[in-house]
Amino acid sequence: MTQCLFCGVVRGDIPAKILHRDDRIVAFEDINPQAPVHTLLIPVKHIQSLSEAGEEDRELLGDLLLAAGRLARERGVDATGYRVVTNCREAAGQSVFHLHVHLLGGRRFAWPPG
Ligand code: AMP
Ligand code: ZN
Repeated sequence: MTQCLFCGVVRGDIPAKILHRDDRIVAFEDINPQAPVHTLLIPVKHIQSLSEAGEEDRELLGDLLLAAGRLARERGVDATGYRVVTNCREAAGQSVFHLHVHLLGGRRFAWPPG
């Protein structure tokens, strides 16, 4: 997936403020933050969206959510509350087609979302 923006972040071709990296997950600051804390967590493996994830990705998806919770604690938003979102397909707001989880915190959030 040479032309995928987030695969470029994984490879290091696209500059990003990396907060965490291991063999399966990379977390970095969103370039256009929508909250005081706005971090993206992505699998190293290119998966277009949650819709393209399969049974073989069960552990990876669990790791992504656990990493989001861990980062929320590390970034100091656990006590005040945070939101974890994945937009799936364009109509739901997906603009980068490499599965990612948004971790947002540091302000109040409305429900239902826009
Ligand atoms: P989504 O709209 O759910 O697909 O989320 C894509 C997110 O990626 C948006 O919040 C963008 O601000 C963010 N984004 C786009 N390009 C970059 C980049 N080069 N580095 C970090 N975040 C980015
Ligand atoms: Zn990709």
